[in-house]
Amino acid sequence: MSADPNCIFCRIVAGQIPSRKVHEDEHMLAFHDINPWAPVHILLIPKLHIVSMSDVQLEHAGLIGHMMAQSPRLMRELGVTNGFRHVINTGEDGRQEVMHLHIHLMGGPRPWSKG
Ligand code: AMP
Ligand code: ZN
Repeated sequence: MSADPNCIFCRIVAGQIPSRKVHEDEHMLAFHDINPWAPVHILLIPKLHIVSMSDVQLEHAGLIGHMMAQSPRLMRELGVTNGFRHVINTGEDGRQEVMHLHIHLMGGPRPWSKG
């Protein structure tokens, strides 16, 4: 399945739900988290509906690398100068709430509310 009509992040990709986008290309989207834990907190998501890291296969390696490789530029553009943190929650025990793969990318001066 390339998109799930019931998935909130697929609906963001489709433009049916608004988001504060910071990057978009043919493979991915990056937008501000609606409930940030840090001064800068964005989510990197593939446009393809992949449920979680549990579903990632070798054929997705390029896509995951592509998303990760946007991070330094995005953090720089958002004014993050002193380091940043990636978090990926996977499945129930990983406390994943939105079932569309996403990479949390956080930065900015501490203290943070979480993470
Ligand atoms: P996780 O627990 O890793 O599944 O995190 C899901 C994240 O998605 C949380 O940090 C939420 O604040 C965020 N989130 C949920 N809905 C939206 C939305 N419509 N726009 C932006 N971020 C969202
Ligand atoms: Zn989805």
